[in-house]
Amino acid sequence: MALEDYRGDMEMCCRCSCCKFIPMQMVQGAEYSYACPSIAKYNFHAYSAGGRLNIAASMLKKGFNYSDKILDIVKNCQMCGACGVSCNYAMDMEVLEPIQEFRIKTVEDGHTVPALEKVITSLGNQGSMVPVTGKRGDWASGLNLKDATSKKVNVLYHVGCLTSYDKNMQKLAKATVNILQKAGVNFGITGDAEMCCGGRAYQMGYKEDFLNQAKKNMAMIKKAGIKTLVASCSNCYQAFKVLYDKYNLRGDLEVLHITEYIARSLNEETLKPSKKVALTVTYHDPCRLGRLGEPWIHWEGKKIPGDRFVFDPPKIYRRGTHGVYEPPREVLNSISGIKLMEMTRIKEYAWCCGAGGGVNESNPEFAMWTANERIREAVSTGAEAIVTACPWCEKTFNEAIQKNESSLKVYDIVELVEKAI
Ligand code: SF4
Ligand code: SF4
Repeated sequence: MALEDYRGDMEMCCRCSCCKFIPMQMVQGAEYSYACPSIAKYNFHAYSAGGRLNIAASMLKKGFNYSDKILDIVKNCQMCGACGVSCNYAMDMEVLEPIQEFRIKTVEDGHTVPALEKVITSLGNQGSMVPVTGKRGDWASGLNLKDATSKKVNVLYHVGCLTSYDKNMQKLAKATVNILQKAGVNFGITGDAEMCCGGRAYQMGYKEDFLNQAKKNMAMIKKAGIKTLVASCSNCYQAFKVLYDKYNLRGDLEVLHITEYIARSLNEETLKPSKKVALTVTYHDPCRLGRLGEPWIHWEGKKIPGDRFVFDPPKIYRRGTHGVYEPPREVLNSISGIKLMEMTRIKEYAWCCGAGGGVNESNPEFAMWTANERIREAVSTGAEAIVTACPWCEKTFNEAIQKNESSLKVYDIVELVEKAI
């Protein structure tokens, strides 16, 4: 699909502004009513989803003459998808898809920023979206894990760039390994041969680079005969499960997030958290595990033009309702001593951590502002810690907390499970 294919969706936008806020019945006060970080920060309609659709539709008609302001608007969006969920509460139209295609078009037209070019160059040269320090599989040194490319395993644990290379995040890989071992899973890793999923490149608008990664990954997975992949990073999870499927590359590979795998192990009683972890926590739904982790829905049919676009057969829209929301909560509730206090914006209405869509790289100040908003919301629940299920969220929250000297603690859910087993 290209931007032109969403002309009808973009023209359907009635500028109602619902994409800026969580739906009315969820609103509990002015403070946590925004859904879209971009409009909340920049406070001008063009920085909302509706604004972006209006601009793209207008450029389709009048030509793509990019100004610095338009490129600033395209860039300062976390691609978090909250807008689409709020819009689709009442409307049947695509929102995030045309925003994504608009971003892809700006990149294809040669308009990008040095910070993003740098990470894409690193992806091309070194297969990583984060700075490379040593070998990708160094974190597993001495753990004697199976190599999934040469040994028969039931599960491939895909670690991801940030968890592999960032010394502060490698603890998440080790915790995941401990959990899988404790549950008696026959799993392996690909170590130094692991490659970036490409998901974050896609969010930044680099579609071709994403497709290259996807094709290389699926070729390796097929060659190794892997049937199930477990990811502990929500970006990797969404790339393998949703984006690879969107481009018909996933085949029958089963893709699970580690929280889904742990919840399954708890139900099958192969994993039993027995130790108490006394902590009051609030849970942050990562965008790409929650609303954007919803399965892709393939649709084929005819568009019948009219006053509104009519589809034959009717098109089913992804509304964020089928993301991974219950497994992380089941896992937290299975740990004795954990008390879960929910924030106002949860599940498909969760506020982004700030790191998505290349904003972390291109505008770190905006990423920090967004993270601070979430931390403020987390603190308002009375929780001692914010728990998430993605290394990018953990990293961003930690940076924001350090800058603010907040006493809120940050954990990935695997760290708490590791303590409990
Ligand atoms: S994108 Fe949807 S919610 Fe936003 S202004 Fe347009 S119609 Fe309204
Ligand atoms: S994807 Fe997120 S940041 Fe971008 S317009 Fe939608 S809600 Fe706002």
